[in-house]
Amino acid sequence: MSTSYDFDVIVVGAGPAGGMAAGTAAAMGLRTVLIEEHPEIGAPTHCSGKLQLHAFREFNLPQRLVLNTLQAGAFYAPNGAVARVRRAVPDSHVVDRAVFDRWLAHQAQERGAELLLDTRLRAAERVNGAVRVTGERSGRAFSATAALIVDAEGARPVLPKALGFQLRRRLILGLQYQMTDVDLEEPDCPEVYLGTAAAPGFFAWLMPIGDRRARVGICVDPQLAGRAPLHYLESLLQGHPVVSRRLRYARIERKLAGPIPVLASRSPTAVDGMILVGDAAGHVKATSGGGIYFSLIAARLAAESAAAYVGGDRDALIRYDRRWRRRFGRELRATTMARLALNRMTDADLNAIVATIAADERLRATIERLGDTAYQSRLLAPFMTHALRPGHLATLARPMLKIIRYGLRALWDDEIPAEENGAGEMNP
Ligand SMILES: Cc1cc2nc3c(=O)[nH]c(=O)nc-3n(C[C@H](O)[C@H](O)[C@H](O)COP(=O)(O)OP(=O)(O)OC[C@H]3O[C@@H](n4cnc5c(N)ncnc54)[C@H](O)[C@@H]3O)c2cc1C
Repeated sequence: MSTSYDFDVIVVGAGPAGGMAAGTAAAMGLRTVLIEEHPEIGAPTHCSGKLQLHAFREFNLPQRLVLNTLQAGAFYAPNGAVARVRRAVPDSHVVDRAVFDRWLAHQAQERGAELLLDTRLRAAERVNGAVRVTGERSGRAFSATAALIVDAEGARPVLPKALGFQLRRRLILGLQYQMTDVDLEEPDCPEVYLGTAAAPGFFAWLMPIGDRRARVGICVDPQLAGRAPLHYLESLLQGHPVVSRRLRYARIERKLAGPIPVLASRSPTAVDGMILVGDAAGHVKATSGGGIYFSLIAARLAAESAAAYVGGDRDALIRYDRRWRRRFGRELRATTMARLALNRMTDADLNAIVATIAADERLRATIERLGDTAYQSRLLAPFMTHALRPGHLATLARPMLKIIRYGLRALWDDEIPAEENGAGEMNP
């Protein structure tokens, strides 16, 4: 390919997807620029920072990024009943996202990528077999050309439309407070609070991050929630019997908010001149909203495809789409099915599921053995098998029917119309 453009690859957005894509591309010898709209990387932060140990092993991430380690989970039903599980080995670490994102960007620079901060891109176009981006850098007009754009803009990307992408996604809205002096029951056990009143279309959580500190938050689906996210978070803090007890002496250190693109994975993620990674591509589990690990995997695959594309292999971009789907597409499909079924569950259904897990030692043992927050689909078949045992059938018949009816329907209809993009506009 011609080298008459400024860079081989322009990576847009210095979150986990962009940092990893830029670092990998630069290490492969591509002339790479990583462009971030904010004057500093990682601010403002929106994320809880839970990242599976798989990611630490696969990407050789240093232990000094770890704030806390999680090995257990507690699931509170709307009626206050709780099911607890504890794995034999830890599942995840918690990282400080600002520190994590800066570390990735620094690695990318060490490998030869150029980093441009305070540079907001607003448009992209194809020009003479290359692509050009335009925007502003520190208040002045900016433009650059490259063979390829790796778009890692996050949940609300602005560049893909101009190059022909038609994104389908449903945005849910997250709001959380980082708090200190929290009365934690177990420092390695995140707590999940379920219920249509607590967090319509998702859940509320308390994530211990070490030293009696925790991130306490909610996510809501604006299509199912009647009020703004702040209403649900304040109600959780003041009114939830468990949360209000844990936070009796707690103080807010900072507030974090952001959207999560769930139910977005079906859209194509590559066109001539651009590939999407991370939240921009919908690489998020629809059950938990977790996206960091899959973003890192996709970013590495994207950079490898970019190298092949710049080397003249025009099929490399389509292969990228196939490769990430082979690697974790099943998880996105399974969690989409679970989310659509969960969105139809009443509080009585959720009470029944939590009560069954709490009461059934064998089921809990299965969850503890096979449960993996990165690869959640591993639990689907064993859970259904347990649920269909005669002892549980009466209690779980209704939720199971919903999983079959709404979950399986998701295989061909994920309830997102083709034109829907940016749904969920709502102030925190
Ligand atoms: C409340 C909440 C809690 C979460 N908790 C977790 C969790 O515990 N674990 C987990 O795995 N996931 C979690 N997630 C999801 C996780 O944050 C995302 O999946 C992850 O950040 C995706 O990384 P990304 O690099 O694709 O996008 P982002 O992290 O959003 O990064 C995108 C970057 O691009 C920049 N940018 C955007 N547009 C432009 C532009 N036009 N020009 C220049 N720069 C631009 C942005 O400033 C940003 O720095 C959470 C999300 C929310 C909202």
